[in-house]
Amino acid sequence: MVMIIRKAYRFVLEPTAEQADLICRFAGSSRFVWNKALELQKHCVANGKRVLSYAEICCRLVEWKSEWDFLKEVHSQPLQQSLKDLSLALKNCFDGSKGFPRFKKKGERDAFRFPQGTKIDNKKVYLPKIGWVKFRKSQKIDGTIKNVTVSWSMGRWFVSIQVEMEVAEPVHPAKSEIGIDMGVVRFATLSDGTFVAPINSFGKVRTKLATQQRRLSKKQKYSSNWHKQKRKVQRIHAKVAQVRKDFLHKLTSLISKNHAVIVLEDLQVKNMSASGKGTIEDPGKNVKAKSGLNRAIRDQGWYEFRRQLEYKQKWRGGKVIAVNASNTSLECSECHHRAKENRVSQANFRCVKCLHEEHADLNAAKNILAAGRVVQACGDIIRRTAA
Ligand SMILES: [Zn+2]
Repeated sequence: MVMIIRKAYRFVLEPTAEQADLICRFAGSSRFVWNKALELQKHCVANGKRVLSYAEICCRLVEWKSEWDFLKEVHSQPLQQSLKDLSLALKNCFDGSKGFPRFKKKGERDAFRFPQGTKIDNKKVYLPKIGWVKFRKSQKIDGTIKNVTVSWSMGRWFVSIQVEMEVAEPVHPAKSEIGIDMGVVRFATLSDGTFVAPINSFGKVRTKLATQQRRLSKKQKYSSNWHKQKRKVQRIHAKVAQVRKDFLHKLTSLISKNHAVIVLEDLQVKNMSASGKGTIEDPGKNVKAKSGLNRAIRDQGWYEFRRQLEYKQKWRGGKVIAVNASNTSLECSECHHRAKENRVSQANFRCVKCLHEEHADLNAAKNILAAGRVVQACGDIIRRTAA
């Protein structure tokens, strides 16, 4: 069996002065059409109209080209890609997974992408209408090129080459299966008894962020000091996000390496039941406002955790199974007796029938694993019947 995987290589570009000038123009024009289209879409939303489709916005691009000559100097593809990105950003916003897209500023994540027409020849990449540009090749490139992105970061231009390749489907080296219960007090509890502390416990950084945010609120809006302070706050946000990402990567790599089958609860189901019961709030002052923020942070962590596990398992040849977790907290993992009274407190589980006693999250993780085994067994039966 073979499977297709996508991979991205990133190298430092070494354009000549002339090429660098062209690259700047490409980036500027891509940013220009993004901002232009965003302005148009914002106008639609403000007037209670539906946003324009990608095809409709592309028609506008033709008009803009006749209006602004500099748009004609660059290749159409990156401009269209920019509009495509905006359409996707708007879709994500309406789905509720991301915020409303923002206007782009010069030097802020400047980038443009070629979906086709690019070539690689040893240490040079061919960019349509720009030419053969040298790059610092630090590793061999395998696979078929899918797209090429040029981006500005830390004072230089980079090229990202996304490739697709066929590889033999891997077989996971481990045999073990594990169930995972996601929670607030414990971020994750594994059915083998190990558990992971909550992901949003970055106490020090949080205090720092609060201090800097308070300072920002006292500054005159849009003054130079306000901008300076704003950058400070943004840097802390970026730092928090990075710490969280690193934390999750270490965790998901470890779990994925050790277990061929990982069973998780279906988050949406858990979310509804948890908020309905109102068990997720932190006790203390300002519970409501705080819980909203905590919930957002926690949900992000859960989704990212699952996303990483899924792709890492795919790479290793393992599996992730999501199960309905609505009753996992009330059922005894030993005798399967299900009763409200089994749950003594948030942390304690004691079965009223067989007296089995355990941390409530661990009991739930064992139930999740059992539910995953049922799903797998059913899947096997269906497969066998089909064959
Ligand atoms: Zn029991």
